[in-house]
Amino acid sequence: MALQRIWINNTMSRPEDIANHVLNRLNIRIEEDLLLLDEIVNARGALIHECSMEGAEARLLIGPGKPIISVSTSNYINPYRRRFSIVHELGHLEMHRGNGLMRSCTKLDIQELPAGNSVDAEQEANQFASAFLIPARFVERPFAENAPSFDLISEWSEKLQTSLTATALRFTRFTLEPVAVVYSFQGKIQYFQPSSEFTELGVFPDVNHPVGLNTGARMLFNRKEVSRQWHEVRAAEWFRENRDAFDRGDTIRELSIGMPNYDAVLSLLWVHEPLGQKDDW
Ligand SMILES: [Zn+2]
Repeated sequence: MALQRIWINNTMSRPEDIANHVLNRLNIRIEEDLLLLDEIVNARGALIHECSMEGAEARLLIGPGKPIISVSTSNYINPYRRRFSIVHELGHLEMHRGNGLMRSCTKLDIQELPAGNSVDAEQEANQFASAFLIPARFVERPFAENAPSFDLISEWSEKLQTSLTATALRFTRFTLEPVAVVYSFQGKIQYFQPSSEFTELGVFPDVNHPVGLNTGARMLFNRKEVSRQWHEVRAAEWFRENRDAFDRGDTIRELSIGMPNYDAVLSLLWVHEPLGQKDDW
């Protein structure tokens, strides 16, 4: 039986490994294959059903027949987000099949931020969706070999039909540069995702605080034009004060783009020169 064949033991828990395993089973070798989500879900023994839904964005139903992934038809959900939601549910099917017959996932459950250490099932499904839709097999080399830029990230976002935010967050997983992606909402830093090189620097964007006054992000929130290129800004405009990690006069590079529909700004921060060598506090 097909469903037996696709069963994956819960003990194999890293969502990225499981996503890779499923991609291998599906023999996904070119980007275009990933666009055929109906076929993918069918090949994994389930069906996609589009319907109006209250209080949920997507749902997984495991009944006597084939498992059904329902996804909301709401106009507020753009096609990229809908893809992410479907694969989030596929992640539940692949990883959490034994945990119940029905799972309803809300807007808050389905998040593009692949939060690091949590073992929560929703986080795992999000990590699965990110690793499946933006797979290492396609992006690892281009992300590692090219300089950080939104041109590169948008190119892959369009190719894979994933949101700019999801693709940018995934970029941090593979770039070899000390880069962080920062998501700000209504003028405040909401979260950030660092690359591993960035993590080693010991600097932290100031989460829950307003974006710095002299940043491109601030200009975008003030509805000013900002050219889509790297700008030098003071490190102190972005990072929580830490005299051990950087100096007052240190600069970093910032590239921000506005997402006015969400009242949000997405920023790339690139520490292109060593920090903390001037000791000028
Ligand atoms: Zn979920």
